[in-house]
Amino acid sequence: MKIGYYPGSFDPITFGHVDIMTRGAQLFDKLYVSVSVNKNKNTLFTTEERVELVKKVTKEFSNIEVVQSDMLTVEHCKILGAAHILRGLRAVTDYDYEFQLTNFNRQISKDIDTVFLMTQGKYSFLSSSSVRELAEFGGDVTPFVPEVVKDAINKKFKK
Ligand code: ADP
Repeated sequence: MKIGYYPGSFDPITFGHVDIMTRGAQLFDKLYVSVSVNKNKNTLFTTEERVELVKKVTKEFSNIEVVQSDMLTVEHCKILGAAHILRGLRAVTDYDYEFQLTNFNRQISKDIDTVFLMTQGKYSFLSSSSVRELAEFGGDVTPFVPEVVKDAINKKFKK
């Protein structure tokens, strides 16, 4: 059984993430979507809220399981039996960071490889941070996130 592991902050989950997950769910028999706990990062949504939103958005996918993680990605992969890490690539700006991360992970564990899916053009400029910024300034996030996420954002900003 091919098991994949898609890690991220998902603060919040956007259509860009959903695209990668949807395509990843077709590549793997089982795909873990792992929400990072991010102790040192100030997030808009708490870990529990982020996990809950990812669960709601992926509920139709029978082979996706949402987990949370506060450990090294490769360690968590080993525990879950995942041989592949899944990551999304947007513009070239993602490349440097992902290249470093992939090789770092490979040094820690040679058994776990990383696979990349290129984003669709329409999502290449979409990031959680731009959604957060837009929301902070009262902008409409409808084109960028699923309905449940939009509702959660509006609730956060008491719209
Ligand atoms: P991190 O905090 O690790 O950057 P993110 O939740 O921002 O976590 O992203 C998780 C993964 O999803 C990364 O591989 C990132 O490149 C990818 N990703 C984020 N936004 C998009 C997008 N719009 N299209 C494709 N992949 C994306």
